[in-house]
Amino acid sequence: MSEEKIYVSEVFGPTIQGEGPDIGSKCIFLRVAGCDFRCNWCDSKYTWSVSKSKCKGYKEEDLLECTLDLCRNTNTSHVILTGGNPCIYNFSSIISGLHKSKIKVDIETQGSILPNWLINCDLIVISPKPPSSGQKDVFEYVKFFILENADITEKIVIKIPIFNKEDIVFLKKYYDEFKNSKVRIYCSVGNNMLGGNNKNIVTESLNAYRNLIDEVFKTNMESIHILPQMHVLLWGNKRGV
Ligand code: SF4
Repeated sequence: MSEEKIYVSEVFGPTIQGEGPDIGSKCIFLRVAGCDFRCNWCDSKYTWSVSKSKCKGYKEEDLLECTLDLCRNTNTSHVILTGGNPCIYNFSSIISGLHKSKIKVDIETQGSILPNWLINCDLIVISPKPPSSGQKDVFEYVKFFILENADITEKIVIKIPIFNKEDIVFLKKYYDEFKNSKVRIYCSVGNNMLGGNNKNIVTESLNAYRNLIDEVFKTNMESIHILPQMHVLLWGNKRGV
C-alpha cells in the first residue's frame, strides 16, 4: 500500500444508487475530495477543496478498513467510488481489499484521467461532461481507453447528464461511436435546481425528464437508456443520502 493519502469528502450509506445501470441497488458511496474539472452546474462543489476543514486524508489501509466496517455494519456488499474525481488517486489496493471481502466496486469518473487500475472495477461509469458544463470534451481519450480495453467493454458505461439541446448533439457523438459495441450508453436529466429552497424540485425534475425523453426520441438513438436522477426525486439536493 502506498503512503500517499486519499482525501475523502464523505463515506456514507447504505443508500441506493440513483443513476445508471445499477439504479435502485443498495450501496455505500465513497466520495473523494479533489477534482480536475469545474463544471458550471456541479452539484458537489464541496468536493473541489482538499483543505482540512472540508475533507479528511486517509492512508489507504485506514480508508479500506473504514469502508469495510461500514459495509459489514450495514450488511452492504456494493461500494461506489465517486467524487470529485476518484481517478486522481490510486484505488488499486482498496479495490482488491474490497473484492477479497466479496464487495462489488463500481466507479464513476468524468474520463479526463483513465488509469490502468480502473479495469479492476466491476463497473466503470465514464461520465463525459457536455458543452453546458464549460469543460473540455474527453471524447478522443475515452475512445482510446475503450479501444485499449476492448475485452472488458461489457463493464463500461458512458453516462452523460443533459441540460440543453447542444448536450444532446454531444451525446449523439458518443452514441454513434459506441452503438455497435458492448459499451452501454445512458443519459440522465441534469439537475439545474441547485441552491434556493427547491420546493418544486420533484415536479420540475419530472418535467425536465419528460422533455428529455421527447428530445432524445427525435434522434436516432434507439438503444440508449434515458433516466431521471432518482436521488434528486427522493431527496432533492440533500447531501449524504
Ligand atoms: S467532474 Fe463532477 S465533481 Fe468535478 S466539477 Fe464536474 S460535476 Fe463536479
